[in-house]
Amino acid sequence: MLWLALGPFHAMENQVLVIRIKIPNSGAVDWTVHSGPQLLFRDVLDVIGQVLPEATTTAFEYEDEDGDRITVRSDEEMKAMLSYYYSTVMEQQVNGQLIEPLQIFPRACKPPGERNIHGLKVNTRAGSSQHSSPAVSDSLPSNSLKKSSAELKKILANGQMNEQDIRYRDTLGHGNGGTVYKAYHVPSGKILAVKVILLDITLELQKQIMSELEILYKCDSSYIIGFYGAFFVENRISICTEFMDGGSLDVYRKIPEHVLGRIAVAVVKGLTYLWSLKILHRDVKPSNMLVNTRGQVKLCDFGVSTQLVNSIAKTYVGTNAYMAPERISGEQYGIHSDVWSLGISFMEPLQLLQCIVDEDSPVLPVGEFSEPFVHFITQCMRKQPKERPAPEELMGHPFIVQFNDGNATVVSMWVCRALEERRSQQGPP
Ligand code: ATP
Ligand code: MG
Repeated sequence: MLWLALGPFHAMENQVLVIRIKIPNSGAVDWTVHSGPQLLFRDVLDVIGQVLPEATTTAFEYEDEDGDRITVRSDEEMKAMLSYYYSTVMEQQVNGQLIEPLQIFPRACKPPGERNIHGLKVNTRAGSSQHSSPAVSDSLPSNSLKKSSAELKKILANGQMNEQDIRYRDTLGHGNGGTVYKAYHVPSGKILAVKVILLDITLELQKQIMSELEILYKCDSSYIIGFYGAFFVENRISICTEFMDGGSLDVYRKIPEHVLGRIAVAVVKGLTYLWSLKILHRDVKPSNMLVNTRGQVKLCDFGVSTQLVNSIAKTYVGTNAYMAPERISGEQYGIHSDVWSLGISFMEPLQLLQCIVDEDSPVLPVGEFSEPFVHFITQCMRKQPKERPAPEELMGHPFIVQFNDGNATVVSMWVCRALEERRSQQGPP
């Protein structure tokens, strides 16, 4: 067959390409392209700009066969997407299936408008809601990720999350308590992060943990990792959460202050949200701050289940470098102790001083960093818990105010660049 030898682009040259532009929360628009293989990144952004005139779109995504979202922001990446798409088309043709359009997900920073000046055909099959999307606010999801999370939650509501439906893939990391895996959830087609912890405990305690974890279903903030469910199999619990493709902050080297500032804003908002639900995080540290290529920053591993924390603590005794002095000396733990850990977490990417309980609080060298940043860290790390900023003072701090502009692109670009660098250092797989 000649077209195989020529490669997918040539074989598809005469084919009409249908690109389905998914609009967050309100269906999709189909765009028919007659010169698919020649299509440029700019062309796609132009059309997205017409479909979503009020949003600033700088990139878009498509889904690979695992349901992982791949970002496209250049002609090179466009080529990779088209080549992937045409290979799926060929497969569909070979199997005699209907050819699915190429679905893309614009990465919009602002809520999309509903104008469609080019009269593009609205696809009524896709998308469930015809309502306009809600205004973006701190508590409302601003992009399609949350929509797929919502879909996943719906699927899960019909049945319990269970081991049979999960295919474990790579290991994402090991912690003191357990191991985190990237996993594929078969019924929903979604990628998850599953934390597996070995716990030799009674059935009674297992039940207690499961009921304590219930509150996670209610956590709904863009700054908190999405929770999909948990289950016990023999002596281990699996906790299924949203997968964050940028991983945790601890693996990133020196983070520039304008990026760190935006991350700090998200972390403060996440903590404020948890505190408003009367949940103390208890384990604020860079490895529990996750980022993704959309520029989102989310907190994970907060202590909602006392029993789970206690059960893990039995196998792990010790302190960590982020613990507040009052915690190390066994005094009462409160919001202020989370605030200490917040301060030290943001000091750490700058590879600065070590903190010791008996000594004075560490001070950042002024000059190298902005004055508001140094002040923020120093205030969070006051020895006396009560002298540390209260939640509303954190939100009103000049360092947080300065970077509280909702600019996810800064973090997104930094995550993408860091991942690319990491990939190029690792070389081809
Ligand atoms: P500790 O056990 O002391 O809390 P830790 O946070 O490093 O340490 P884990 O919570 O077990 O350990 O996580 C291990 C690693 O898995 C993390 O460092 C992070 O890189 C990765 N990880 C955890 N959750 C996710 C997630 N939802 N998406 C992507 N990566 C994750
Ligand atoms: Mg963790």
